[in-house]
Amino acid sequence: MYDIEKLYLAKSVPDAIAALTADPDAVIISGGSDVLIKIREGKLAGCSLVSIHGIRELNGVFMEEDGTILIRPATSFSHVTYHPIIQKYIPVLGDAVDQVGGPQIRNIGTIGGNVCNGATSADSASTLFALNAQLELRGPDGSRRVEIADFYKGPGRTDRAHNELLVAIRVRKKDYEGFGGHYIKYAQRNAMDIATLGCAVNVKLNPAKDAIEDMRLAFGVAAPTPIRCHKAEALANGQKISQSLFDEVGKTAVTEVSPRTSWRASKEFRLQLVEELSKRALKQAIINAGGAVNA
Ligand SMILES: Cc1cc2nc3c(=O)[nH]c(=O)nc-3n(C[C@H](O)[C@H](O)[C@H](O)COP(=O)(O)OP(=O)(O)OC[C@H]3O[C@@H](n4cnc5c(N)ncnc54)[C@H](O)[C@@H]3O)c2cc1C
Repeated sequence: MYDIEKLYLAKSVPDAIAALTADPDAVIISGGSDVLIKIREGKLAGCSLVSIHGIRELNGVFMEEDGTILIRPATSFSHVTYHPIIQKYIPVLGDAVDQVGGPQIRNIGTIGGNVCNGATSADSASTLFALNAQLELRGPDGSRRVEIADFYKGPGRTDRAHNELLVAIRVRKKDYEGFGGHYIKYAQRNAMDIATLGCAVNVKLNPAKDAIEDMRLAFGVAAPTPIRCHKAEALANGQKISQSLFDEVGKTAVTEVSPRTSWRASKEFRLQLVEELSKRALKQAIINAGGAVNA
């Protein structure tokens, strides 16, 4: 049994916003794979829930007129992975969320819940950072858009107000067209484990496919929030593909992160992962973007 005070099944986005506004302590539940664990652990025991699970307009993946990919937040990980738009244009995101938990969790857990829990370890987060995703939040006063890099405020803290819902995750055409991506999750085992470190790279090559035009490097669990490594990105842009470039990117990334020691891994081990996974993810992303890697 779960210790829940009240459960309200919202019928629409305005209905959910009204229910949250009426109860300053109510908690949104979508798939419930984080919230129900917290209730059982006692951290949210006795809370009131506003369920958005049945709101159809919060579900699905769409292509907007200008080529922006729109992912509704209550879309499950499985649906994200297997959706034809994701598979065609941003397969890296489908691969990243296919590494969450096990099949049951991927069927119930949602991409919006993964972003809104504010966890640096969220498997969607570093890839969404590398895709420059934009979030749309809706509250009683209307909608606002926030860049994902500005959404995370600290461990488990985000820019979302209590009575705001995440209603859309967008990836703009300029951030995926011509790019190849790769995500590496390092965990102690392959399934049902949270990332010790997550590394995502998105890269666009020049027409000759021998130099980097635009590289984005992002990490989860390398800092209190997911982060981008802008110095490593800047040094890679415009450079020919070479082993020395990979080494430089890895070494520079280490100077930009601030991982901590936890029971999963020491800070030193995470720093070693940052250097190594930067190189591996960049190489694979280059291959996925149509380039060649000789090392
Ligand atoms: C066994 C197990 C294994 C797991 N493994 C992984 C893993 O490998 N990688 C990983 O990243 N995660 C993992 N998780 C965590 C979890 O599955 C994800 O974080 C999932 O994405 C949460 O989505 P949900 O819909 O279930 O969220 P919920 O539990 O419903 O909500 C999560 C949080 O987001 C808020 N929220 C949800 N939707 C919205 C919205 N639209 N607007 C505003 N706020 C919202 C809720 O209030 C809550 O704070 C695991 C969980 C379990 C139980």
